[in-house]
Amino acid sequence: MKHWQDIEQLVDQVITGQPPTHTQGVNILRSRGAEYTSYLAGAHHLKERAFGDIVQLCSIINAKSGRCQENCAFCAQSAHHQSSPPTYPLKSRDELIAGAQQAQDEGSHCYGIVTSGTQPEAGEEFDTILSAICEIRERFDVEPSASLGLLTDDLAQSLADAGCVTYHHNLETARSFFPKICTTHDYEEDVKTVKLAKAAGMKVCCGGILGLGESDEQRVELAETLRQLDVDSVPLNFLNPIQGTPLENHQSVSPMDCVRAITMFRYFLPNKPISICGGRETNLRELQSWIFMAGASGTMIGNYLTTSGRDRNVDMQMFADIEVKTDGC
Ligand code: SF4
Repeated sequence: MKHWQDIEQLVDQVITGQPPTHTQGVNILRSRGAEYTSYLAGAHHLKERAFGDIVQLCSIINAKSGRCQENCAFCAQSAHHQSSPPTYPLKSRDELIAGAQQAQDEGSHCYGIVTSGTQPEAGEEFDTILSAICEIRERFDVEPSASLGLLTDDLAQSLADAGCVTYHHNLETARSFFPKICTTHDYEEDVKTVKLAKAAGMKVCCGGILGLGESDEQRVELAETLRQLDVDSVPLNFLNPIQGTPLENHQSVSPMDCVRAITMFRYFLPNKPISICGGRETNLRELQSWIFMAGASGTMIGNYLTTSGRDRNVDMQMFADIEVKTDGC
C-alpha cells in the first residue's frame, strides 16, 4: 500500500503544477504489475479530472503525398527511402473541403490537412490550402488544422488569418535522439515552427512517434520538452514499420509499453489533450481500449497518412463498450 500512497502524492504534486522528476518519469515506464496499475489509476484520475468521459476524435487528409526531400527514417514519404508511398500533388480545393464534410459526418472535432515536404511555399498550392481552410471554417463544425512542415512568420500568419485553428507539427522524438532519425533539418527548426505557430495565434498540436529506437530516458525527455513548449495538444504515434524505410525491421512497441508511455505523458502533461494516432492498431492490438484508462483523451479515426486505420464502427463500438462519449466539435 505504501506504493499507492507514493503515487497519490505524485498525482497531487502534478495537480498543483509540479511535474514529475525525470527519474519519476522513467520509473513509470519501467513499472510492472501492481505498481503500474497504481500509476495507471493515477493517470486515469488526471485524465478524468481534465476531460471527464469525453474523448475527442480527429481525422486527417493526406493532401499531398510522397517525394519529400527530408529523410525522416520512419517515413514512407521520404524520397531518400525505397518505400512506395502513394505519390500525388496537392489535392483540389473541392477534395480538401469534401474531406472536411466526411470528418464532420464521422464525428471528428478536428480535421487536419497534411502535406508532405519540408515546408509550404507561398504561391498557388498554399493559396489553395488557405482558401479551403477559410471555407471549412465558415461552413463546417470541424476545426480546420494544417500540417505543412516548417513555417516562416509570414506563412504562419497567413494560416492564422485564414482561420486555421491548429497547426500540427511533431517534434518526432527527443532532441538527443533526433540526429539518428533525421539529418536533413535541425531539431531547432521544428521548435521554431512550434513557436511561430503559437505566436501567430494558432493552437499547436505537437507530439512524436515512439518506438524509433529511443531509450526510456529519451521518451521522458520528449515529454519534458513538450511541457516546456506548452503545446496545446499532444498526438502520440507508435512506429508502424514501413517496408523500404531504414526502420522497416524495427520491432513494434509492445502493447503494455504503449500504455505505460501514454501514462507517463499524462503525468507530465496533466491538462493537455493527448491523442493516440498512427500505429494504434498494430502496436496496441487488443489493448486499444486501454488508451483512455492509461491517460489519453482522444484518438485519430479513419486512415493515417500512408496506412489504413480500422473500421470506424469498430472504434465506435469500443467507445460505447468502455462508456466514453465522443466529442464532435
Ligand atoms: S515526416 Fe514529413 S518531413 Fe519527414 S520525410 Fe515524412 S513527409 Fe517529409
